[in-house]
Amino acid sequence: MASTETTAREQKTLINPHGGTLVDRTVSGDQAAALAEEAAGLPSVRLTEKQTADLDMIASGALSPLTGFMNKADYESTVEDMHLAGGLAWAIPVTLSTDATPSGDRLALEGYEGGLLAVLDVEEVFEADRRNEAVKVFRTDEEAHPGVAQIYAEGSTLVGGPVTVFQRPEPAFPALHMDPVETRAAFAERGWSRVVGFQTRNPVHRAHEYIQKCALETVDGLLLHPLVGKTKGDDVPAEVRVECYRVLLDGYYPADRTQLAAFPAAMRYAGPREAVWHAICRKNYGCSHFIVGRDHAGVGSYYGTYDAHLIFDEFEPHELDIEPMFFDHTFFCRTCGSMASAKTCPHDQEHHVFLSGTKVREMLGRGEVPPVEFTRPEVAEVLIAAYRGQ
Ligand SMILES: [Zn+2]
Repeated sequence: MASTETTAREQKTLINPHGGTLVDRTVSGDQAAALAEEAAGLPSVRLTEKQTADLDMIASGALSPLTGFMNKADYESTVEDMHLAGGLAWAIPVTLSTDATPSGDRLALEGYEGGLLAVLDVEEVFEADRRNEAVKVFRTDEEAHPGVAQIYAEGSTLVGGPVTVFQRPEPAFPALHMDPVETRAAFAERGWSRVVGFQTRNPVHRAHEYIQKCALETVDGLLLHPLVGKTKGDDVPAEVRVECYRVLLDGYYPADRTQLAAFPAAMRYAGPREAVWHAICRKNYGCSHFIVGRDHAGVGSYYGTYDAHLIFDEFEPHELDIEPMFFDHTFFCRTCGSMASAKTCPHDQEHHVFLSGTKVREMLGRGEVPPVEFTRPEVAEVLIAAYRGQ
């Protein structure tokens, strides 16, 4: 009997990486030492924080099938058509900018904090139409949009080619660092096949917990994957968000169904396009499902509430393979006596525990604990301490 169960478990398989193969662009040991020595003698490019995060995700296979920074064909195809030149779905350009046309066919890449990390084989140097990229990818050419401002600041001369990484940048949260190969191993070890990924850059309130647990009801496991890469200055700091997760998991999540790990990407705030990109990345980490909330990866009022849901209709289901799970705004309804959404609760807003983001920040800033239906007290304590420390 036991052996039958084991066999059934072993037969469960995880979703394939995007493009079929998990990319590994790292070298170690003697190879790494030799490449580091060569890099020291090459012309070098200093990466931004975003580019450093991109490099690290290329290295680990989180951006499979990318093996380097995009050449012109992949860049233009991504911008215009949301596919790589080879036809695979892809939503966000991953590019390296340079001030001057590099001399030579190999470039050393230096992390934003200093220190050489990788060598890029120069395939192509090309001019990008950043305004067109802004309009197509961000749906605006306004510099007030942080993602648009970023690509304008990077400039229009791009260098494309495969990278080989001999030194991974220091992870922001070493305890939560897991490469795709590691999350996949963790899922497989626990016998998970259907895994839902949840991405956030905000502190977790009851609404998020409810969505995560609704999704978990239908699959084997939950990957809580808070984004710890570069965000806007006014987002809640990653260390505070991670601490919120720690206290929440300790108290309210089944340890054998939940995996917490850091997602090292830098935010673009590209809304719908970034939702697709986030889903593809999570597929590489081994997720079969991905939660897409309202205004996923949005900023200001650049995107419609459900744009990040609708964009998935632009792909054939088999193209992405990972299944998006769409959620609406959720809340506690006093009359239903439970968490709910407009889809599941017939009562109007006066029945709901509703607090605006501004109101919550004011309460926490005064040291007041929001209603338990809105935020777990353990999470409120972490946030109050953080607001008071500012
Ligand atoms: Zn209700």
